[in-house]
This record gives sequence, C-alpha cells and structure tokens, in this order.
Amino acid sequence: MATQTPLEETLPKRITAGLLRVGTALRSHAWEGAALAGLTPTQGEILTLLLSRSVPMRLGEIAADAALTSATVSEAVSTLETKGLVEKRRDANDGRALALRLTARGKTAAKRASQWPDFLTVASDALGDKERVQLYRTMVKLIYSMQGRGDVPPQRMCLSCAHFEPASGTRGAAAQHHCNYYKINYDDSGLRLDCAGHEEADMATQRKVWKIFNKS
Ligand code: SF4
Repeated sequence: MATQTPLEETLPKRITAGLLRVGTALRSHAWEGAALAGLTPTQGEILTLLLSRSVPMRLGEIAADAALTSATVSEAVSTLETKGLVEKRRDANDGRALALRLTARGKTAAKRASQWPDFLTVASDALGDKERVQLYRTMVKLIYSMQGRGDVPPQRMCLSCAHFEPASGTRGAAAQHHCNYYKINYDDSGLRLDCAGHEEADMATQRKVWKIFNKS
C-alpha cells in the first residue's frame, strides 16, 4: 500500500503540527530564559502570573490558573520564597487563608520572565495588520473551544463573560463588540483573554454569544 504523502495530510493535522512547533519554541525559550535567571520555567510562570494579576493569589488559584498540580506549585513557591521573590500574607478576603504576592525583587524578576516569549511578538511583526487580527480572533476561538472540552483551565475571556455583547449585523474583523462593564466598543483585536472585570455567563447565554460571534 502506498504511504501517505505530506500533501495528503489533513489540515487539522497540519494545524496541530504547526502549533506543536510553536509550543517547542516557547518551551525552549522558557528554559533558556529561566536558566539565565536561575529559575525554572514553572517558577517564571508563577512570577508572571502574579505580575499580570497584580493582586495576591492563593496557591489553589495559581494551580488552577496555570494548570499545575498543588504539589508542583507548592514546591516552586517554597523556592521562590527562599530566593526572596514572593511572600505569603493573610488573604484580604479571608483572614484564615494565605495569599502570595511579589516582593520588589520578585517584580523585577517577573518583568524579565514575562519577556521570555517576546520572540513571538517579534515574529508576529512579519504579519500584516489584518492577518494579525484574524490570527488573534482564531486563537481566541480555539482557546474558547479547548476550554469547553476541559483542555485548558477556565479563562477570564470576553466570549464567556456576562458583560459581552458580540457585534451583530456587521461582518468582518472591524465589527464592533460591546462591553457592558467597561462601557466600551472594540473590534476583534480588543477581545480579552484575561480580564479583571470578567463575570462568567450562564451556558445558554454563552451558546447564544458564540452563535452571533461566529457570524460576525
Ligand atoms: S468585562 Fe472584560 S471580559 Fe467581560 S466583556 Fe468586558 S472586556 Fe470582556
């Protein structure tokens, strides 16, 4: 029997192969950056998560958000504490619980760690404006679809937010969506993946939004 030629591979297979290569590049840059900073990629990920949230986080929240086990987070956090990059304080919302926050040195280390994936930002400069927006929209849809299957932790993204009103009636990347929380209009390039104002919409609303969004 003749073997399958590369041209006979299905498009979903090629998309997967492309994404795997991006994943390999991300992992290799993370290891490189981490080695230079005397950290592990997991420690860098925790620092950048704390930096991006700008509020103290409990260990359980970090584990859920980064899709890591509690044991892995606990071990990484102990090392970060020993290095003086994070500190535990009483959680402002629950005095019995502890929350983690960055120290001043931790903030500097987190800013450096957040630059490890900058090679992707540089690579995306090779795309035209329309291609970039289209790629971002596609990625948002892909992440939402993976979230629905439990392949990524729940994201604080517009597509699942009770405040999101997708553009209706207008087609194309310039279609204007609306956020009822921040009271702003924005096109696909403004869709959020991790937003502090996010509030989970019920599933019936999410299904309706997805239908409208797909038509815009
Ligand atoms: S609150 Fe944030 S996530 Fe929700 S619709 Fe507005 S911008 Fe999007």
